[in-house]
Amino acid sequence: MLRRVLFIMVLLALSLGSALSGEIAGGWSFKFGEREVVCIQDAANVFPAKLFGNNTSNATYQGSINVFLVRTKDQTILIDAGNDQARGSLHEKLQLLKVSPESISDVLITHIHPDHVGGLLWNGRPLFPKANIHIAKQEYEAWEKDAGRSALAKYLKPYEKNLKLFDYGQAGPLGLVPEKRGGHTPGHTIYRMALPGNIEAIFVGDIVHAASLQFPRPKICARYDAVPAEAIASRIQTLQMKGILFGAHIPFPGAAKGGLVKKAGPDWSFILQKYQQ
Ligand SMILES: [Zn+2]
Repeated sequence: MLRRVLFIMVLLALSLGSALSGEIAGGWSFKFGEREVVCIQDAANVFPAKLFGNNTSNATYQGSINVFLVRTKDQTILIDAGNDQARGSLHEKLQLLKVSPESISDVLITHIHPDHVGGLLWNGRPLFPKANIHIAKQEYEAWEKDAGRSALAKYLKPYEKNLKLFDYGQAGPLGLVPEKRGGHTPGHTIYRMALPGNIEAIFVGDIVHAASLQFPRPKICARYDAVPAEAIASRIQTLQMKGILFGAHIPFPGAAKGGLVKKAGPDWSFILQKYQQ
């Protein structure tokens, strides 16, 4: 009898353990009590070494283009929307996940680049007709003033009535708190989400592009970082955070441990360790 009870307990522990995280149709699921984070790979991606500093080699770094879905039993939101339909796969991945676009209540945008807002449209129309689109006021206003960014208007204009421009620090949908981490773009935003057990998930957007290069050497910028000194400060500040970092370009399934400092001081260095449950 005792042996049988033990056997059942072991089975239960194993099944609970494996239920926390794993691949599902359409993405990779991480479970935190009542909350689930699903990493959706919008597109595969590698970064050429030439994008970084003075590097002239032909090497590449593994990347990804990830969108994150966060859901509770009552609400489903997205962090970013990936590429447009020609290059991305959000529409198909949501079908595989059995999530209807109408059920998405909110989309939180880290910054206005085409690999983050492109997937908001489908056949020229809003893919998420019932969603509010949340963007930092500072990011949106910088975009409005800049002719170079105006091409991106096509992704946001159809949502004009549902645009929610926020100030940093105000808790938004599902209690996610936006914080400014500028430099990549003027108002680049990370979103912090408290989880049971005193842990935190942090959606870090484009704080890193090539994770395997920029965790150990955070002072290296991709050419996409508009203001390198500010982007470096934002990167170092974010990689120090002791939470689970969900990154738009961290190799799928997009999660790494934050706060793993190797060397502090003028030569910051962080350890890239995949987050697993
Ligand atoms: Zn990006």
